[in-house]
Amino acid sequence: MQSTENRISSLQARIQRAAADAGRNADDIRLVAISKRKPEAAIRAAAAAGLREFGENYLQEAAVKIAALADLDLTWHFVGAIQSNKTTEIARLFQWVHTVDREKIARRLSSSRPEAAGPLDILIQVNIDDEPQKAGVATSGLAELAARIIELPNLRLRGVMAIPKPSAPPREAFRRLRNAFEEARPAAASNWDTISMGMTGDFEDAIAEGATIVRVGTAIFGPRDLSQ
Ligand SMILES: *Cc1c(COP(=O)(O)O)cnc(C)c1O
Repeated sequence: MQSTENRISSLQARIQRAAADAGRNADDIRLVAISKRKPEAAIRAAAAAGLREFGENYLQEAAVKIAALADLDLTWHFVGAIQSNKTTEIARLFQWVHTVDREKIARRLSSSRPEAAGPLDILIQVNIDDEPQKAGVATSGLAELAARIIELPNLRLRGVMAIPKPSAPPREAFRRLRNAFEEARPAAASNWDTISMGMTGDFEDAIAEGATIVRVGTAIFGPRDLSQ
């Protein structure tokens, strides 16, 4: 079996190559390691191999790991569904939240953010394929939501995030997200600089279309145990 260190170095080489192919600087693409369902030891191994940014989907699971790994000074991203009664804990534990799709959640995150922690970095999740059951604001509502979020004092609105539908080739959806990001720029503030898109199966396409964060789990940690 491949070690975490080997998987990370081949992933980084693929990111470099995808950036070069797109005429982009690989330093402009940040790798967030999605560590959901993976134990503390796996995260320690990835941190030892140089990764500093990790993403989690499930709050209770994340809270335990974040406390256990406090000695490492990692940056944590919340990439899961947000229930409104969980905003206080999310605002305390994380530095980034990728999945804000309504004003009520943004307000609650802002009012719960401890001032000493500095502003919470926010991405608006966009329902880029207009899937009926999927989280995310419709593309047509992005600019208005951005304009409301920039009024909130303890948030720093950075950009957008999406998860394209699995049944279609993702590249076209990534391009639409990039276009929506550019179109909403006038409604956002000066920190509007982040497009979070691309996972293990499609991060190269995402980089080709302008991703500045890729969220990769399986290519770093190996397959997740889905029976958990
Ligand atoms: C699980 C997950 C990922 C990572 O998926 P892989 O295919 O394992 O790379 C990225 N983003 C979100 C929102 C996820 O839930």
